[in-house]
Order: sequence, then structure tokens, then C-alpha cells
Amino acid sequence: MSTAWICVTCATQYAPSDTPPASCPVCEDDRQYVDWNGQQWTTHAELQQQFKLRVGDDDGLLAIAVDGSFAIPQRLLHLRTDAGNILWESLGLVTDEAVDALRAAGGVDRIVVSHPHFYSSMVEWSEALGGVEILLHEADKNWVRRPSDRIEYWRGDLLKLSNDVTLINTAGHFDSSTALHWTKGPRGQTLFSGDSPHVTQDRRQVTFMHSVPNFTPMAPSAVRRMQRVLAPFDFDDVYGYSWGRNLIGNGRAIVDASFDNYLKRVAA
Ligand SMILES: [Zn+2]
Ligand SMILES: [Zn+2]
Repeated sequence: MSTAWICVTCATQYAPSDTPPASCPVCEDDRQYVDWNGQQWTTHAELQQQFKLRVGDDDGLLAIAVDGSFAIPQRLLHLRTDAGNILWESLGLVTDEAVDALRAAGGVDRIVVSHPHFYSSMVEWSEALGGVEILLHEADKNWVRRPSDRIEYWRGDLLKLSNDVTLINTAGHFDSSTALHWTKGPRGQTLFSGDSPHVTQDRRQVTFMHSVPNFTPMAPSAVRRMQRVLAPFDFDDVYGYSWGRNLIGNGRAIVDASFDNYLKRVAA
């Protein structure tokens, strides 16, 4: 039976096949890692039996994440904007409860994912939500492992989705790495950075990583480009990639200081 296999380490779901893919290029890439016991595969049906999703509030926004330890611990957020209701990021697992919670909160018009590490089961999410569009930056088209007619690509440095919402190609980590700027977040101007820039564990700075698990810093030229592309935007809050890992207040000044600090240390 043809199955859309899911990598246990990165949660990327692949185009259906009878047997699991030979390898996971996302994990073999130097930004990730292969399971120490060798490549492991699962299926969406197995994940639904093994895990539940945590649905709750993350600093004023409806958030959903896998409850327990599975793959990369990103959480997705529901953003009710003037560009429609956006599901920011994706997860390996979809549940009826999570879909019901999103419907109760007004539904989802479009999924936007920051970069390939979080593509995960985005097509599964789209279908569960009635076939909504998935919007990705085209620079990493080749990293899409489960193609779908729902996927649309944008190009360039910026995409203004509405008066309030702009997608910013911060790049650096992946060529496609995208941040979302929303002028009307829970407390005002807000940046959703994915992991480029990366909100650090102390929640008092951001950093710039080629690889997070392998501790490889980003090239200074890529950091300077990110500094330029983010320069026109103001924001108080920066939401990082996982639950609670957010900078609440003073975000613009923290990001500016982090750029200076990083370039002083890495490009000295
Ligand atoms: Zn993988
Ligand atoms: Zn990443």
C-alpha cells in the first residue's frame, strides 16, 4: 500500500511510495543529523496513535505543538490578520481536535512555512483544513518532498500580503528562510522569525545559525544581508520557533544589539 512516509528525526513527509525512501536528504544535509541508530520512518497513522497535540496559548496566540518528544520541537501559530487567517509553520502530526480548535478560532485561509525544516506534514494539514493554500519561498523548491497543487511559491526579498502582513526572506539558514512581520500582533508590531534569526534560550538575544543542532554559525555576509532586509521593519515582540521561546518587548533593540554582537565576535 502506498504510504506518505514521515522521517522520525525531522518529521518531513514524503510523496507516497510502497516502501520507505532510501534516505532523508533533509537529515543527511549538514544542518540536520541522521538518527544515531540509522534512518527511521513512521507514518501519519502511527503518529496519531503515539502522540497527541498540545493546543493552547503562546503569549496571546493560539498555538499547537506535538505533546511529547518527536522530531524538531516547533510549534505552529494561528494568526488572524487582514491577509486572512494564517497558519504559521507546520507539524508532522494533524489531529481532529487541533483542526476543530482552528475552526472554532475562525478557520485557516493559508499556511505559510518559514523553511524546509518545518515543511513536515504541511500537505496533510492543508488537506485537513479543506485544501488551503501553502505559501513557500521558491528558493528552496527543491526541498519540497511531498509535492502538492496546494503549494504556491513567492520570490524576492519581500512579499506584502496585506496592509498589516509582510513576508521577509531573511535567508541565511536556508536560502528560503522567511520571517513574517505583522503590524497588529497581540501587543502590536511583531516579527515571527522561524529560526532565522533564532531566538536563544535566555530569550534576551537572537543568533544566526547555519545549523542549530550542529552548532555551525551563519556566514557574516548572510547576517549582513539579513540586517539590511530587516532594517525597514519595527517590532516589539519576536516569536521564535518553539513554544514560549519569544522575546516580548524591546524586540527591535534586542535584534539590533544581537547583529552587532554577532558580527563583532564572528567577523572580528
Ligand atoms: Zn529527516
Ligand atoms: Zn531550521
